[in-house]
Amino acid sequence: MTAPFKVGTSNPQLRAKIRARCVACRTESAAEVALCPRCAKPNELYCAGCLRAVERPDDSMGAHCAHCAAVAWSVGASLRARVLAELGTPESSARDVAALRARFASLAAQFSLPARVTAFIAPAAPKWELVPASHRAALRTRFDEVMIADAQVRREVESAMRGTINFDTRIAAACDAADAARATLVEWDGMLVEVRDQARLEAALAIYAESIRSARQMLERLKERDLSRALDLDAARARALVAFKA
Ligand SMILES: [Zn+2]
Ligand SMILES: [Zn+2]
Repeated sequence: MTAPFKVGTSNPQLRAKIRARCVACRTESAAEVALCPRCAKPNELYCAGCLRAVERPDDSMGAHCAHCAAVAWSVGASLRARVLAELGTPESSARDVAALRARFASLAAQFSLPARVTAFIAPAAPKWELVPASHRAALRTRFDEVMIADAQVRREVESAMRGTINFDTRIAAACDAADAARATLVEWDGMLVEVRDQARLEAALAIYAESIRSARQMLERLKERDLSRALDLDAARARALVAFKA
């Protein structure tokens, strides 16, 4: 992505623009044809993009137009700057996505909460007729407190579960999308040869930014709002039960 531009570097789209023409009669041939099929004079290579003559290379990279390569590199510069601002370096963006996955994996350990809660046994009311009349009112108040704590934690956990439906697959999908967009941007050679490449890279950049943003947002919701609140209430319920039995 940030590899310095080298004249010897040639991208397939730049190579595809190279054609051959006869130095005498201008008859066109495929790039690999060395002699004019009409007058047998030597063919010269030229760029179909800017019509400049191109040197026939002796390396295996194939001919490309240095002028169009320089233009493609300079047109790509502003997009490269945006990619760098949005992703950072290829290494730092890989770390960003890996950190999101790791954070999700550590939070996922707390997903045992709904399973635990669905296994809750409702607090059992004492047999009131067996409770001495003198204790009945006080015990009833304490039992009401237990029932309130129990109802609260059930409600909170149900809402946490509703609000976080499929978070695991959605966060994984967002990280996968960010990784795929990142791969596209990192593999880019830094040149903008065609308008449709610009559109493709802009789309990848938007997908990367949006995927990271939404994965972070889901992680925040998962952590801050739902689970920590449910855990607090779970602890309150446990305390109420212990206090009632004491
Ligand atoms: Zn000719
Ligand atoms: Zn050219």
